[in-house]
Amino acid sequence: MRPEPLCACCRRHPVDPKSRPFCSERCKLADLGRWLSGDYRVPGDPPPSADTEGGSDDDV
Ligand SMILES: [Zn+2]
Repeated sequence: MRPEPLCACCRRHPVDPKSRPFCSERCKLADLGRWLSGDYRVPGDPPPSADTEGGSDDDV
C-alpha cells in the first residue's frame, strides 16, 4: 500500500487523476485564484519595478 499524494491546494484529500495535482476541480480553481490574487508572493521580497526611470522620485 503506497501513500497517495495529497492535493496541492488543501493537502487533505488524495489527488484526483482528473484534476492533478489537486483533489478536485474546486481546489484547482481555488489554487489558481490564489495565484491570481497574489497570495503566493513571498513577503519581504518586493517585485522589481520598472518605473524608476525618472519621474516622481522626489521622495528619496
Ligand atoms: Zn483539495
